[in-house]
Amino acid sequence: MARIVMKFGGTSMAGTERIRNVAARVKHEVDAGNEVAVVVSAMAGETDRLINFCREAAPLHDPKEYDVVVAAGEQITSGLLAITLQAMGVKARSWLGWQLPIKTSDAHASARIEDIDTTGLIAAMSAGEVAVIPGFQGVTADNRITTLGRGGSDTSAVAVAAAVKADRCDIYTDVDGVYTTDPRIVPRARKLAKVTYEEMLELASVGAKVLQTRSVGLAMKENVRVQVLSSFDAPTDNPIPGTLIVGDDEIGEDEMERQLITGIAHDKNEAKVTLTSVPDRPGAVANIFGPLADANINVDMIIQNIAHDSGSTDVTFTVPGAELARAIDTLEKGKDVIGFSTLMHDTKVAKISVVGVGMRSHAGVASTMFKALAQRGINVQAISTSEIKVSVLIDEDETELAVRVLHTAYGLDAEDAA
Ligand code: ADP
Ligand code: ASP
Ligand code: MG
Repeated sequence: MARIVMKFGGTSMAGTERIRNVAARVKHEVDAGNEVAVVVSAMAGETDRLINFCREAAPLHDPKEYDVVVAAGEQITSGLLAITLQAMGVKARSWLGWQLPIKTSDAHASARIEDIDTTGLIAAMSAGEVAVIPGFQGVTADNRITTLGRGGSDTSAVAVAAAVKADRCDIYTDVDGVYTTDPRIVPRARKLAKVTYEEMLELASVGAKVLQTRSVGLAMKENVRVQVLSSFDAPTDNPIPGTLIVGDDEIGEDEMERQLITGIAHDKNEAKVTLTSVPDRPGAVANIFGPLADANINVDMIIQNIAHDSGSTDVTFTVPGAELARAIDTLEKGKDVIGFSTLMHDTKVAKISVVGVGMRSHAGVASTMFKALAQRGINVQAISTSEIKVSVLIDEDETELAVRVLHTAYGLDAEDAA
């Protein structure tokens, strides 16, 4: 007998028939003698629909009320799954975020889980009742509903798994594992049997939305055994049908050596900002990035040009597209202190990243990238690197082409699909 957390994403929960399929899968685990908690997403498209209602009601709205609205999608699917399980003769009960409770910070719309009270949950599970938990939602210390940021149900699942000390956290989605890149863009992408926490964290943070970044960080910290698998494939006896997220120690030396690049991700949600004629003197960049940090705006890639003869320089950087309006507002307000001449911005950009722990011991990864892109006439507008990642900023229209070209350049294409 094992204690498992099963998480089902939006596509898996979209409609009565699919929820029935999910319930059958849950029943399969219960019949095998396992204790089960299920974390569910809202039906695909539902969260977008609810967010739109908020925008229509008022473009600038109270995040506390936004959370009340958008958390509703998961409330519906958790109740529906409990009903469906009961109809199949499986004991089941839903537990909303405030009922467990799942305590979070008060950062509405992107709250962090602080604590999960497992008393009721563990009692129910050990009495053979399936606990159905809506993902994405929690409650603050003063009892207001919160949500965890887009894709947050993955984080709910990992947090529940850590809290109940589950043997496994199975993330069921609409693809059968983590691939070398988004299989919807590159049909020749290869499924990875294993990927390290560190690589998955990096891949997720640069746009591979198959897992929410925070869920991977939490799994790494709490040592949760996470597997990504498809809710549409028939259950199998294979203990690892999908992709297992593992520690470095579980990836053999040979595998590490063989795989220089683990995966490629893209992100079309960045915006590029350029400030021209910024004074080239100490403190100038602090004047730009200090106020952005104070406004909680995340800056990612940064380039500063060589100074002009006039003693000034151009500074280019990226911010999340959703934060562009606030970033412009913050910079315009600080224009006199920063001393720039013009502010230019562009949302038609995409960030393409290659990730792999093999990069630590191999030179030439970045130059392979630049060569491959140059051969296809793709212009690189900005570059950033970390120990296991190289990212470039390009024109958004060239995203798919760039991902495909790089996938081939690093030898990641599946052999049978050439
Ligand atoms: P869910 O609703 O189940 O949470 P998501 O849409 O959030 O599903 O995540 C699954 C999607 O992630 C897939 O449909 C796929 O298009 C996308 N994806 C992006 N990068 C990858 C990758 N490297 N491997 C697998 N899927 C990926
Ligand atoms: N329903 C939420 C979203 O679409 C959370 C999730 O599905 O993980 O972002
Ligand atoms: Mg998701």
